[in-house]
Amino acid sequence: MTKLRLAIVGAGPAGIYAADILLKAERKFDVSIDLFEQLPAPYGLVRYGVAPDHPRIKGIINALRDVLDRGDIRIFGNVNFGTDITLDDLKHHYNAVIFSTGAIQDAPLDIPGIDLDGSYGAAEFVSWFDGHPDVPRTWPLEAESVAVLGNGNVALDVSRILAKHAEDLLVTEIPDNVYEGLKQSPVTDVHVFGRRGPAQVKFTPLELRELGELRDVDMVVYDEDFDYDEASKAAVASNKQVMVIDRVLQQWRTREVGQASRRLHLHFYAKPVELVDDGTGKVAAIRYERTRPDGEGGVVGTGEIREIPIQAMYRAVGYFGSPLDGVPFDEIHGVIPNHEGKVLEAGSNERVHGVYATGWIKRGPVGLIGHTKSDAMETISHVINDQADWWSPVDPSEESIVAMLDERGVKYTDLDGWHHLDEHEIALGAPHDRARVKVVPRDEMVRISRAE
Ligand SMILES: Cc1cc2nc3c(=O)[nH]c(=O)nc-3n(C[C@H](O)[C@H](O)[C@H](O)COP(=O)(O)OP(=O)(O)OC[C@H]3O[C@@H](n4cnc5c(N)ncnc54)[C@H](O)[C@@H]3O)c2cc1C
Repeated sequence: MTKLRLAIVGAGPAGIYAADILLKAERKFDVSIDLFEQLPAPYGLVRYGVAPDHPRIKGIINALRDVLDRGDIRIFGNVNFGTDITLDDLKHHYNAVIFSTGAIQDAPLDIPGIDLDGSYGAAEFVSWFDGHPDVPRTWPLEAESVAVLGNGNVALDVSRILAKHAEDLLVTEIPDNVYEGLKQSPVTDVHVFGRRGPAQVKFTPLELRELGELRDVDMVVYDEDFDYDEASKAAVASNKQVMVIDRVLQQWRTREVGQASRRLHLHFYAKPVELVDDGTGKVAAIRYERTRPDGEGGVVGTGEIREIPIQAMYRAVGYFGSPLDGVPFDEIHGVIPNHEGKVLEAGSNERVHGVYATGWIKRGPVGLIGHTKSDAMETISHVINDQADWWSPVDPSEESIVAMLDERGVKYTDLDGWHHLDEHEIALGAPHDRARVKVVPRDEMVRISRAE
């Protein structure tokens, strides 16, 4: 029987689901899968994106771990595609590769003042509070008044973590440096800005409702934002999700505010146009244009400019994929160009044989963890059907990869290593009744994983 030696680059949910689906699929060949991950620990944004105070979603890691624990997938962590292994290496040892490298950067936002001190990307902040090893250990939390731009769940995650009292995060897995940083924060007001109205937000109801339950945080909404046009009324009447969101917001309109030490303001119909310089290169205020509904579910500017003093701004306007050496890249959308997961040359429809994509790097940084499963199904169906176009590797043996990494001095981590790290983090949390405390420095993660 023929054997497919498959490399998967990126051990987030997309890569792990792809491996699982292929192993369970009906096919006429054997499969052997190696999963390469640049971080010492697997699970991608489930570990390093999903908010630490969302333990139910973090729990998806247990299902992903079950897949890895089955024992038919090898994982090589702390191995970066582009430096530790290249596309030529993969062609030498495998029949095909699937890239599932996700997205970790912030999408750009082009407004005056965006480069001022105090202007941050949400993705950077998320990486910090979720203990990503490749970002600095400290975060400048010095602002009393903060703006968060965006009306999706990442904007809510960022706003919630900023507004919450640090002690209320102590039950979570947040690393010690994050707790210490948040404890010092003098924040009193978090202002969330969305260009469109309450009926057009991309929040999910559960995430929104959660804000109203934060201890010692008042939710502030503004009556002027609830003068719905016909399109908004129709959206509220016809879409269950919008209806629930509207109900939550309407309740907040009737709440008394003023008792809490922190406030979380939701500004709708507010399009940020500029960050104002305090004269020393730091953010002093945000200017935004009031918008109004255009009658078709969109908005137009009214020309009315308003200003709110702030000392920090986080843009949560989307994530963006990163290019990989030797692999086509679509610079506009931040994805690997592909048709249903089959990679294409950039700017043409020419197929790049043996190369596939799945997850956020395939279809862009939108959608939930569950969506990466259907994504993977599509990509895997092509991997199976493309047998005639697979690469013919010179050395497909499983040992050859281990030998190559050893020869290069790559300190890779494996599944046993993840178990060591997992147990270590759980043990760190146990005396304090916490599920785990994350280890942040990369060298420490590697040392614990490799039991060195
Ligand atoms: C802040 C935030 C909160 C979220 N919250 C939720 C939520 O509550 N519920 C939900 O369902 N979804 C949530 N999501 C969405 C969810 O995280 C994504 O749908 C999912 O993680 C995408 O999976 P992926 O495998 O494509 O990418 P990723 O999860 O990003 O995984 C990609 C992996 O590839 C690795 N990689 C990248 N480059 C290389 C390289 N050169 N070499 C080797 N490895 C590499 C990365 O280190 C990473 O481990 C959230 C997303 C964000 C950003």
